[in-house]
Amino acid sequence: MNIAVSQPAVAQDDRIAWIELSSIKLPLDRPISDAKVLTGRQTPLTDVAVLCAQIETAGGHRGFGYSYSLRSGGPAQFAHAAELAPLLIGEDAGDIARIWDRLMWQSISIGRQGLAAQAIAALDTALWDLKSKRAGLSLSRFLGRHHTSLRCYNTSGGYLQASTEEVLENMGRALDAGIGGLKMKVGNPSFSADLSRVKAAREFLGDDFPLMVDVNQQWDRPAAKRNGRALDEFNLVFLEEPLASDDAEGHAMLSNLISTPIASGEMLTSVGEHFRMMQLGSVDYLQPDAPRVGGITPFLRIMALADQFNLQITPHFVMEIHVHLMAAYPREPWVEHFEWFEPMFNERLEIRSGRMLVPDRPGLGFSLSERAAGWVVQKIEIGKRA
Ligand SMILES: [Mg+2]
Repeated sequence: MNIAVSQPAVAQDDRIAWIELSSIKLPLDRPISDAKVLTGRQTPLTDVAVLCAQIETAGGHRGFGYSYSLRSGGPAQFAHAAELAPLLIGEDAGDIARIWDRLMWQSISIGRQGLAAQAIAALDTALWDLKSKRAGLSLSRFLGRHHTSLRCYNTSGGYLQASTEEVLENMGRALDAGIGGLKMKVGNPSFSADLSRVKAAREFLGDDFPLMVDVNQQWDRPAAKRNGRALDEFNLVFLEEPLASDDAEGHAMLSNLISTPIASGEMLTSVGEHFRMMQLGSVDYLQPDAPRVGGITPFLRIMALADQFNLQITPHFVMEIHVHLMAAYPREPWVEHFEWFEPMFNERLEIRSGRMLVPDRPGLGFSLSERAAGWVVQKIEIGKRA
């Protein structure tokens, strides 16, 4: 007996008809330095290259997503996304996982991570925005949320170009604005300089206020052992990137030696690299970054794995995307508050009583501001608008 299995036809309205890619050069208020600048490995950061994707279906439903790069790689991300985008025309916008696979297979000869993943991320994020908007739900409600507000901490006041006095002033301002935690950078060539900055911050904040410290990968194993032990007395929420981002074994060794929890993962650009960190027991706090790992589709896979490994997640950067993803994580995360993207959008995230409120607007709930239009350096359209 033949059983006819019919495939549901793609509703014509759901086919992707038009894509606009743009590259925005988002300026920062002042040049930013972490330890990688002080050790001579990088130049100060002056702007962020943001790859934006608008995707519209034949029925007029629209989604917006973005990815980014720091210092270099912006033009290459844009070029790769422009090469991939024509493949989306005519696809059912709801088939996000299949589209992600298709774009990754098309990119495979330049690797399953890094630049290819980040170009795909802008398109993938736009598809999740479109799908949840179409359902009339915020992305967090579309995914199924656990939280309506999240613990959040601020990073931008604790960089190394600021003197200790400036860091304390910035911390005071963030406290006045109701922030729930604060992170500061270390990794100065002299650890005694780091130690006195952390000591000053701890004294300023009191013994129990949530304080995090970020090394930005600038210690080797001997330094990480010695300095990590010295920081144990400061009751830190976590010690971030004490070692090279790909030294998963070193992170695991350190987490057995010191009592401060270890955080890492912002530099990893694939599910596989995160899985390895989890398997080795490298971290207590995993720090995935949705644009860096290839978008929301792979980020959700990382979340499922991290939950199975009983890990905390404290995602890196781009709070406007991560606020939704973390609202759908069972354990309570720490979301990183960065003001850098705020001028790009018409909407703002709200912080109340030290917590970031998860926005209820449909989709991601962010639209590009007029100022952002002025910062566009490259733009192309693929397909035709309905
Ligand atoms: Mg960091």
